[in-house]
Amino acid sequence: MDRSRKPQVVILGAGFGGLTAARALAATPVRVTVVDRRNHHLFQPLLYQVATAALSPGDIAYPIRSILRRQRNATVLLADAVSVDPAAREVALSDGRLGYDFLVLATGSRDAYFGHDDWEKAAPGLKTLDDALEIRRRILLAFEKAEREANPERRKALLTFALVGGGPTGAELAGAIAEISRHVLASDFRAIDPREARIVLLEASDRILPAFPPELSAKASTALARLGVEVRTGTPVTAIRPGLVEAGRERLEAETILWTAGVAASPLARSLGAPLDRAGRVLVEPDLTVPGRPEIFVIGDLAFLADRTGKPLPGVAQVAIQQGRHAARNIDRALRGATRLPFRYRDRGNLAVLGRAAAVADLPGLRLAGFPAWLVWCFVHILYLIGFRNRFLVMFEWAWAYLTWQRGARLITESAGKPEPDKR
Ligand SMILES: Cc1cc2nc3c(=O)[nH]c(=O)nc-3n(C[C@H](O)[C@H](O)[C@H](O)COP(=O)(O)OP(=O)(O)OC[C@H]3O[C@@H](n4cnc5c(N)ncnc54)[C@H](O)[C@@H]3O)c2cc1C
Repeated sequence: MDRSRKPQVVILGAGFGGLTAARALAATPVRVTVVDRRNHHLFQPLLYQVATAALSPGDIAYPIRSILRRQRNATVLLADAVSVDPAAREVALSDGRLGYDFLVLATGSRDAYFGHDDWEKAAPGLKTLDDALEIRRRILLAFEKAEREANPERRKALLTFALVGGGPTGAELAGAIAEISRHVLASDFRAIDPREARIVLLEASDRILPAFPPELSAKASTALARLGVEVRTGTPVTAIRPGLVEAGRERLEAETILWTAGVAASPLARSLGAPLDRAGRVLVEPDLTVPGRPEIFVIGDLAFLADRTGKPLPGVAQVAIQQGRHAARNIDRALRGATRLPFRYRDRGNLAVLGRAAAVADLPGLRLAGFPAWLVWCFVHILYLIGFRNRFLVMFEWAWAYLTWQRGARLITESAGKPEPDKR
């Protein structure tokens, strides 16, 4: 390292982990370069609210550049990172190269189709704002097409929504679609009754929300059933085609199929040449570095680390945030010649919201369901809408949409077919 200049810390990914690391390095004598392929930080836990028209994209995304505006040692680059060359201490971008003294890899995860990548087109996942808008488009257009469909079988398929995967995203999305059909759109159509829409949540294992204790999974199933969601556990999906889901010999015709079943690590991890787990996550050392590479940190969804009991840390925002802070601390310590500290996760619990005033919360020493869990959920999300100066406004908008069932302009979407060329 050239001692005459400040060390260069390159952070790939400005999600929960990367952005926290960048901010935590504000007072460290380093140059921080944050690289992201998108110009915004995204609050993924509220993505399904955009997909179901309860929030607008701008409510849950904020420009990275604006968040780091006042941090003098930070530079933001909009670029796609392609690979890492640990020997040369360089990152290959799609349009150039970037050298580093320390690297923080925080590019997160993407949807995984378990070897069935051909299912993606028929069953999109929910990971980005584009995904959320595409899902919103599909949901709204399904109702529109059903309104004009004379064939009762076809109409039934148009009003069937299948969600593959009963984790938090699947459960939350299923509940939200049920509420759109039962309340938000209930009086807006003439030929169809949106309340007749079928929402089917398919889960391969024997219960939904497997990361929660069984009693909360059961309460979540009951809450979803009350909203009109058919929860089908022990139902592994074996094939997906446009408009059709198969689970063994069972066939479900559904115009809208959504993938909420699993994620795999960002492919960037592979270029490190480090040991990976089955989901492609880097098996990091306790101090969050790559084995044999003390200058490379991997954090968040991209890292695999077990807690003190040997249980793998979950792919949640809190892990990424705490690891981002910890990586920054270890970089600071390394520069001061202090020993690096092992990462310890402070588990703040698990939350899933299942519609208006209904949620489940598995908190340290406390398990809640129903309205109290929903209040906790609201509080936590207000607290963690980082960088969003309008966080109370967003939560107010969201609460208003829920209390009144009014979604207003957020129910607008693109036309069903290709738009006519402008003939003027
Ligand atoms: C729909 C949904 C709902 C969720 N709900 C919850 C919840 O309620 N509670 C909870 O705790 N967690 C939730 N999570 C999980 C949580 O969002 C993740 O665990 C967390 O975002 C991981 O943070 P990260 O920093 O590792 O990655 P991310 O936040 O995913 O950030 C990765 C960043 O890297 C960028 N990037 C990726 N590849 C490249 C590349 N090649 N070049 C440049 N940039 C790149 C991306 O654009 C992104 O900005 C949810 C996730 C989803 C998808």
